[in-house]
Amino acid sequence: MGIVDEDIALVRERADIVAVANQFMQLKRVGRRWTGLCPFHGEKTPSFSINAEEGLYYCFGCQAKGDTIRLVEELQHLTFVEAIEWLAQQTGVTLRYTDRAEGEGRKRRQQLGAAVERAVEWYHQRLLTGADAGAARAYLRQRGFDGDSVRRYRLGWAPDEWDALARHLDLRDEVLSATGLGFVNKARRQQDFFRGRVMFPIFDPQGGAIGFGGRVLPGGEGPKYRNTSQTALYDKSRVLYGLNWAKSEAARADEVIICEGYTDVIGFADAGLARAVATCGTSLTEEHVRLLKRFARRFVLAFDPDAAGAAAAERVYEWERRHDLEVVVADLPAGLDPGDLARDDPDRLRAAVADPLPFLGFRVERALAAVEGRSPEANARRAHDALEVIREHPDGFVRDQYVVTVADRCRVDVDRLREMLRGKGARVKLVDPRPARRRSGELPELSALRLAIDGETRQEMLPLLHEVLFEDGLHAAAYRALVAAGGDLHRAIEDADPEAGELLQRLATEDESGDPADVRRVLLRAAGHRELKRLRAEHAATGDDSILPLTTWLGQRLAAVAPDARPRRTEEDQLLGWLAERAEERS
Ligand code: ZN
Repeated sequence: MGIVDEDIALVRERADIVAVANQFMQLKRVGRRWTGLCPFHGEKTPSFSINAEEGLYYCFGCQAKGDTIRLVEELQHLTFVEAIEWLAQQTGVTLRYTDRAEGEGRKRRQQLGAAVERAVEWYHQRLLTGADAGAARAYLRQRGFDGDSVRRYRLGWAPDEWDALARHLDLRDEVLSATGLGFVNKARRQQDFFRGRVMFPIFDPQGGAIGFGGRVLPGGEGPKYRNTSQTALYDKSRVLYGLNWAKSEAARADEVIICEGYTDVIGFADAGLARAVATCGTSLTEEHVRLLKRFARRFVLAFDPDAAGAAAAERVYEWERRHDLEVVVADLPAGLDPGDLARDDPDRLRAAVADPLPFLGFRVERALAAVEGRSPEANARRAHDALEVIREHPDGFVRDQYVVTVADRCRVDVDRLREMLRGKGARVKLVDPRPARRRSGELPELSALRLAIDGETRQEMLPLLHEVLFEDGLHAAAYRALVAAGGDLHRAIEDADPEAGELLQRLATEDESGDPADVRRVLLRAAGHRELKRLRAEHAATGDDSILPLTTWLGQRLAAVAPDARPRRTEEDQLLGWLAERAEERS
């Protein structure tokens, strides 16, 4: 991939280094030079100097130096080609690419990006001034968003009308659909995709508009959040909300905070931590990690504790090793998201980020806390569970340090624990009196996937499953791929994201002896317990007593589908339907 040399030369010629630098720092004219505080190292007196005629910069403090393109690469964390593209935009140069397909792809993205940008502005103005946006404005005020935040994040309002945006944009049908902003309905008329929602525009790392997350107002219809569907601009396995604003602060701190929601990103910034990004309705992917490590080497996961614990551990360790990263977990109170905490107790939020737990430490603490009681039996079980978590870590020294901690906390002999950690097969010999999944949801979820893959059981298994039954994001992705491919394994492997495809491929080679209905019941109970925990945490956090009847009802449902109860398909289906609805509301 490349840009035609002539065009690079033209960009170089037209780019004004002072105009570029001025967007990021304050410059003062001194004789024939411009000087300012160096953006690349901390200083109180200016040692950063620009020669405007030659288009060069130099820092007498840290020896940073280069031309305009280099300056854009450094300040914006871009590759050479991206820096040229950025400058071309600013200087009005139309780039030609050495590869024709690439040039056309770029043109197309520009066309779509321009349409999304117009939508951002229209929704935003509608929120600021629309007569129908009063409720949205009141909602945002009540959630702690002032006018500054609304403008800074360019929040918007999608009116509750069929085609208000489409009429305003007046795009060709094909462009409207390709941006995800709307579609052509059965009556062959253009219709808006987002209706009656508060709009959070999503930008690429360079600040180009690519899509939206739309939140329904309390009491409104449909899922709580709806995101732009997959488009040429918006690929949800790559998109990170807030990276365009967070990247400079993340690079300065060499740390990025990863959370789950738009409001969390804004909450972190309000609390003085302007280095947070959010995945948009997916778990963290390899692509996200690759993108983020361009800015920072330390990732702070600020998820709900259940979600953080469920982040597939092997992948985190693999990322740490392969990309030379450090992954830590913010110690957040259960059931409160960072956005709420930023408003109610910003000090607590800052402390959670300033003093995080190592990823393994976090998982070990969760394992230890999951078992109740102080009896010798409880301590032994606690030690077993923690050991299983420690086992996943690839580094022997790290493992051993945690073994010592666990031995101490559980009052068991440290050498015995070490022996168990070394012992092959120790994992299967451990007797766990609790239902299989309490140790980890891994195994039944994989069984379900194997049964859904196998030609003999597929017909029975697939219709019994639902996404909500998979706690692990990767498993859920594999399941989605299977469903999308109508059970066709080869297509599923091809269309799935690489990791999920790999998993499907591996599972297809493994034997499975479980019974579809039994496996589904195990998953259903696990999902039910997760929901119960969430409801209890929500009740503990909010004191909202209207939650109590739900917990009672759910408890009864779970008893009715106990492992030893007579299988009752209708009740199980009902429970699954309810859980699916809850998940939909939450997402
Ligand atoms: Zn410097």
